[in-house]
Amino acid sequence: MSKTMKCPSCEQGTLAPASDIISEIDGHFFVEVGDRCAQCGEEFIGEKEGQKMIEAAKKLGLWGEPIKLGRKLTKTSRGIIFRLPKDLEKSLHIKGNEHIAFSRAGKRIYIDILSA
Ligand SMILES: [Zn+2]
Repeated sequence: MSKTMKCPSCEQGTLAPASDIISEIDGHFFVEVGDRCAQCGEEFIGEKEGQKMIEAAKKLGLWGEPIKLGRKLTKTSRGIIFRLPKDLEKSLHIKGNEHIAFSRAGKRIYIDILSA
């Protein structure tokens, strides 16, 4: 007989191993191994897996750095200008001639830096 784990969330379902648990940090998706409740679908990630995700996020510069930087937009006759913070310019090695792609998610704007 294999040991079954009760779901701590709904206390009804049992947890089954899952290797396709997806976490999102600031628009980046991480796939992790953990357990998923057959009843309510709640997902649980092991401490080790969670740590791995944090390490990966750190490498991408998504963790432990202030993600929200306050900046004011500037209105000109040709449109609204957003000035990129200097520290972002440095950490992303942006030269200033790159092409970018915008995507919108609610009130957030994601900027993908494409090659020059
Ligand atoms: Zn559950």
